[in-house]
Amino acid sequence: MTDALGRGELTYNCNERGYVIGSLKALQANLRHLTWQARCIAKGEYQHRANFLGDFSTAFNTMVEELDKSVSKLTRLSSRYKEMSCRDSLTGLLNRRAFISRAMDMLKDPPDQGQAAVIMADIDYFKKINDTWGHACGDAVLRHMAQIFLSQLREDDLCCRYGGEEFILLLPGMGLQPGYSVAERLRRHICAEPLAYEGHDIAITASLGVSCIDLNGPLPDSASVFEMTVKEADSCLYRAKKTGRNRVVCSEMHQA
Ligand code: GH3
Ligand code: MG
Ligand code: MG
Repeated sequence: MTDALGRGELTYNCNERGYVIGSLKALQANLRHLTWQARCIAKGEYQHRANFLGDFSTAFNTMVEELDKSVSKLTRLSSRYKEMSCRDSLTGLLNRRAFISRAMDMLKDPPDQGQAAVIMADIDYFKKINDTWGHACGDAVLRHMAQIFLSQLREDDLCCRYGGEEFILLLPGMGLQPGYSVAERLRRHICAEPLAYEGHDIAITASLGVSCIDLNGPLPDSASVFEMTVKEADSCLYRAKKTGRNRVVCSEMHQA
């Protein structure tokens, strides 16, 4: 079979044959062309349309158009659900699973500066806010915190709701000292921006812990280095709570 016949092209010769033979040849060529089109459609090329046998063409073309619409809709839905599966539904921040997965990607392809700061933040006396103003107000405070983080961070920084009223941030390219400065800036913003809720100003403070990963040189086990760095930030946060809250505590530089 030639290449042209393989693609189902309509190159048949019926000039010197009878009417019936010619018609059969035409039908055969059309079917061959249609077979080629069906294979193309199966590969996702939905621009193909048939133009023979009247009603058949209409039905075939309608089928291809509907298939095209369904596949486009499924593609849109699938990317929407994929994005939703990465997000915390209350704040829109990354959820813990997506955060860890993106942090691992970052460690595989580290920033030029060879370091990254990790900040853990926890709202102070959040239970009291819930108890005093109600759960809906507590939810509004969580969303308010997310907005403060997003407004203060760079595009490449990762910001996650780690659990209840706890957040974790990963700042690629930042060492311990700049990480501390960012945490301190965030703390001041949180204090300075009470949430306006049903005619009341809800005062919020947070405690923050900062640690840092040194990414210079090969990371033998990036997952456990990351886990250790998060634990360090968490124990700094614990110290911030123990020493009076509404403060930032910074760890020593961690060598991977
Ligand atoms: P600390 O200063 O020691 O952090 O005290 P805290 O009150 O902030 O911490 P605690 O762990 O005692 O209370 C956290 C509260 O957060 C308890 C829980 O009901 C509340 N919480 C967790 N998730 C949500 C949420 O999605 N919405 C609301 N409104 N509250 C939540
Ligand atoms: Mg708390
Ligand atoms: Mg907590």
